Amino acid sequence: MYVASNSADQIKTNLSFVSQQIEQLVQKAQRPKGSVRLLAVSKTKPISALQTAYDAGQRAFGENYVQEAVEKFHALSHLKDIEWHFIGPIQSNKSRQIAETMDWVHTLDREKIARRLSEQRPTNMPPLNVCIQVNISGEASKSGIPLEQLPSMVELVKSLPNLILRGVMAIPAPQQSHEAQCAVYSPLVTAFEKLAELDSQLDTVSIGMSGDMAAAIESGSSIVRVGTAIFGERDYHLTE
Ligand SMILES: *Cc1c(COP(=O)(O)O)cnc(C)c1O
Repeated sequence: MYVASNSADQIKTNLSFVSQQIEQLVQKAQRPKGSVRLLAVSKTKPISALQTAYDAGQRAFGENYVQEAVEKFHALSHLKDIEWHFIGPIQSNKSRQIAETMDWVHTLDREKIARRLSEQRPTNMPPLNVCIQVNISGEASKSGIPLEQLPSMVELVKSLPNLILRGVMAIPAPQQSHEAQCAVYSPLVTAFEKLAELDSQLDTVSIGMSGDMAAAIESGSSIVRVGTAIFGERDYHLTE
């Protein structure tokens, strides 16, 4: 069911290259060392590829499809310190599976889903870390709330007992230049910083992928979501 991934050696080489790149970009942006985390996006890739990355020291993994995420969660449940991040669209009939397995959700953009995730979070698990997904590309994207609705969504999520609001997330449409990419991120980061002044638990800006890590880190990313540059191309998308 999974697509071919890079060889184990290639994954290890890529991981160390991407980590170095992140630190160089952090330095160039004059930001504190270690201020950007790497989320390894392993969607469509086999469990062996995740194991290889884990063995090389990677702990945070991002998955987009509920069924696949849950399957990998069970297959790797012996790795106690692995961290599962859900970064795909959330259908309400799948929220329970997410609430019962994931450590983080980056793609929260509906009140109904927020309420369900909080209700369905098992009491023996820590609260679910969430980022609110914001649509910063207008019509180019169907996912995410408009930036104007961020304050009210923040209030809602903060009122739910089994969620911890950590920050914001975005998937912008690709731009023609580095400057244009930064310009798209700027209003989101500004809005986040305003909110973070009032709440020290808000520490996460989830922006940046293989293609725009430099712009995202320069703009203030705290977690980059990188798939292709680690695991190789995905030639098709799994559907559920
Ligand atoms: C697939 C995916 C990524 C990783 O994209 P790459 O271009 O392979 O680095 C990051 N974020 C989200 C939400 C994704 O769906």
